[in-house]
Amino acid sequence: MKSQDYIALDNTYGAHNYHPLPVVISQAKGCKVKDPEGKEYFDFLSAYSAVNQGHLHPHIVNAVKEQLERVTLTSRAFHNDKMGLFLKKLCDFTGYEAALPMNTGAEAVETALKAARRWGAEVKKVPNGKQQIICAEGNFHGRTIAVISMSVDPESLVNYGPYVPGFVKVPYADASAIENAITPETVAVIIEPIQGEAGVVVPPAGYLEQVRKICTKHNVLFIIDEIQTGFCRTGKRFAWQHENARPDIMCLGKALGGGIMPISAIVADHKVMDVFTPGTHGSTFGGNPLAGAVGIAAMEVLENEKLEEQAERLGQLFRKEVSAIPCPKMKLVRGKGLLNAVVFEEGFEAWDVCMALKNAGLLAKQTHGNIIRFAPPLVITEKELMEAIAIIKKVFMNIR
Ligand SMILES: *Cc1c(COP(=O)(O)O)cnc(C)c1O
Repeated sequence: MKSQDYIALDNTYGAHNYHPLPVVISQAKGCKVKDPEGKEYFDFLSAYSAVNQGHLHPHIVNAVKEQLERVTLTSRAFHNDKMGLFLKKLCDFTGYEAALPMNTGAEAVETALKAARRWGAEVKKVPNGKQQIICAEGNFHGRTIAVISMSVDPESLVNYGPYVPGFVKVPYADASAIENAITPETVAVIIEPIQGEAGVVVPPAGYLEQVRKICTKHNVLFIIDEIQTGFCRTGKRFAWQHENARPDIMCLGKALGGGIMPISAIVADHKVMDVFTPGTHGSTFGGNPLAGAVGIAAMEVLENEKLEEQAERLGQLFRKEVSAIPCPKMKLVRGKGLLNAVVFEEGFEAWDVCMALKNAGLLAKQTHGNIIRFAPPLVITEKELMEAIAIIKKVFMNIR
């Protein structure tokens, strides 16, 4: 079968809830993917940063193979001999006392919201049903009903009502808006350290630290969603580490699964995590031994290959080179580490640019029409990055 045949199957038998570039990926390795016709592309999306370690990293693939010979699924009705090792590794890696494993990012966010509401009722003594959580306009935290209830994006919201109450939306990157929205019934603030889906919106320096201080002052939990920004993507293990802004709960996902399978979690200290007691939350697949093996290997790769330093160094190079491309429609290049975006002028349709990049051998996807995100696997070498930048340059210089 050819690419067009696979695309036809998707269109015929699939729900039409995505609008993908017309490219079919049938093989991948490191920072490159191939289509069924054998054409090779740089992957500059990395599955929205779920492939920080690169496609099919041998260390992670070996961990999968070994675990497939032993046991893959037990449920939490029993213990298994991988989950505890995984949780310990995750706590050591993040610097928290406890972790709760789930599968998808949206489930990690749901878990954080449930922890915060329960902490609010049981520790802060807000009457149950009155708990409020402050979130930021422009956020993306996932697709469940509760999570989209935090959104302001019409596409995510329209005709999915009734929405979940208890969320207060304030402008992003404005710490005083958060402080002004706090009431005695506020139990938590949830934000992304950089808004990825919104187009790699980087808040001004000091924002996260200010929000941290405000939360401490008002006895409100600070939740940071690091699902896209975490695991070395922005040049630190976690994006909040660019500042002194340690959250009470961190939501993790995407690259925790090493590009192999969905693995998510929240991490927190016991004073928050202990609001969960037997039977009050759970997941059939969360904490499964295969995920345990993959998660451990995924974090080991980040450490062994010093990918946070790599992301920091190559990110600076990327922004310097791309912002120097002469392209009158390009307004700015922004980002941290290897999470970057090119913003074109208002009203510019970047789809055609993504198509031209694809034809030239580089896959990237636009958000909000006029913004293209560039986020290659962190294992990309400097030589490969320069080759990719040459493609971007050739395409951008042809934009009229
Ligand atoms: C991708 C993402 C999610 C949702 O993760 P899923 O695995 O798709 O449910 C949540 N928050 C952020 C910041 C994300 O980028």
